[in-house]
Amino acid sequence: MSEVYDLIIIGAGPAGLAAGLYAGRSRLNTLLIEKAADGGQIAITDDIENYPGQKVEGESGPELIERFSQQVDKFGAKRISGNVTKVELTGDIKKVYVGKDQTLYESKAVILATGANPRKLEVPGEAEFTGKGVSYCATCDANFFEDFEVFVIGGGDSAVEEAMYLTNFARKVYLVHRRDELRAAKSIQERAFKNEKLEIIWDTVPERLEGDGLLQRIVLKNRKTGEVTTYEADEDDGLLGCFVFVGNIPNTDLFKDQVKCDERGYVITDEDCRTNIPGVYAAGDMRVKSLRQVVTAAADGAISAMQVEQYIAANE
Ligand code: NAP
Repeated sequence: MSEVYDLIIIGAGPAGLAAGLYAGRSRLNTLLIEKAADGGQIAITDDIENYPGQKVEGESGPELIERFSQQVDKFGAKRISGNVTKVELTGDIKKVYVGKDQTLYESKAVILATGANPRKLEVPGEAEFTGKGVSYCATCDANFFEDFEVFVIGGGDSAVEEAMYLTNFARKVYLVHRRDELRAAKSIQERAFKNEKLEIIWDTVPERLEGDGLLQRIVLKNRKTGEVTTYEADEDDGLLGCFVFVGNIPNTDLFKDQVKCDERGYVITDEDCRTNIPGVYAAGDMRVKSLRQVVTAAADGAISAMQVEQYIAANE
């Protein structure tokens, strides 16, 4: 008979890693499954400055997450790399299937920590030019745009922070926001307004992305005046950058037919991260909550792991 773990954690972003740390310290027999690199969205964030206790001077997401991972490993959670393809969460023994060959792993409890993915603009040309001018990760792709012109779409924390980061590479960064006021935190806005390489284009959305093999034209529409403007890549450049940061979509498709979610697909939990299914918890950006940050994801991970410990004790 295969091993039944106390706990399976799906996802190794800040929530899943914090859960792994707490579960390990509680001596729960824990399996942590991640399909890609640790860190989730933090792994593609250049500059983190608001995680309490982190190194204050410019610590990047990958550096912070590396320390999360080392701490998990110290306390003994088992780790595997694989894509979870199916889950059966309703019984006393939870079943988690991994990979094309559907390898089965079983546990008494599950923490869902699958995070969220970047939302797309859904405009013509976006898919065609992804990787050919269109990007969702400044840390990954900024260096391709050294001394080029770059557009950043969005007005939240991510868009404004990543636009500022991109000014270290691009010769000019245009931040295109659909309203006349940014959503980003005031402290972030203040820095952005002072940045001379950053220009904000207000009340505007991209209508189309065009080019010949590479992104060369971006067609913008002012939502108040209806005016349409086409920005063309400089002839010497032959390429424009378009970085999209318009929010996130929760990664809950795998289990939203079993776990109760809201109309946008975020998992509904109580404040102790319990879902509607006994023994199943949700932690991090994919659950309904008011603040999606590393600190709140890590807190969810800790809370849910401690709930698992109590759940297992009560059901033994
Ligand atoms: P967000 O806060 O949801 O902001 C998304 C932005 O994209 C908004 O400005 C929104 O405009 C705009 N938008 C949405 N759909 C659009 C569309 N179809 N076309 C054009 N614009 C569109 O997302 P986020 O900035 O990725 O942040 C996600 C979460 O992570 C937030 O809770 C944020 O605070 C957090 N975060 C924190 C930090 C930090 O503290 N350092 C850094 C990054 C992210 P409207 O404003 O008009 O809705």
